[in-house]
Amino acid sequence: MNLIYKNEYGAIYSVEGAPNPNCSHQLIIGSIGIYMSLHDLSYLLDIVEACHYPCHCENCQGKFPDKIFLPNGNTEMCLHIDPFVLADLEELIKQTQFELNITQTLDAYKIGRHHF
Ligand SMILES: [Zn+2]
Repeated sequence: MNLIYKNEYGAIYSVEGAPNPNCSHQLIIGSIGIYMSLHDLSYLLDIVEACHYPCHCENCQGKFPDKIFLPNGNTEMCLHIDPFVLADLEELIKQTQFELNITQTLDAYKIGRHHF
């Protein structure tokens, strides 16, 4: 497992030889780890960003969401969130995407990260 980014709330790793090769990233929060694809991560970011606004679904009824359902088709997992956690989760995903984009760009030009 290679750490991509971590903060107070959690961490995201890339995992070589993940059970499902499409889900080669792992979001770790406390003692749980969830395998995700990059698509899942950006979908999760959409959900996290939507939590800044009141939600009119049956659960929230016009209040701010206090749960995030994880984008995994087979399981119903959700994270309980409060505004403090929300900002950290958002930062975690955004920084991870940023790191991945940089790595991809450097790879494309065959530039090593620590060579100057
Ligand atoms: Zn809702």
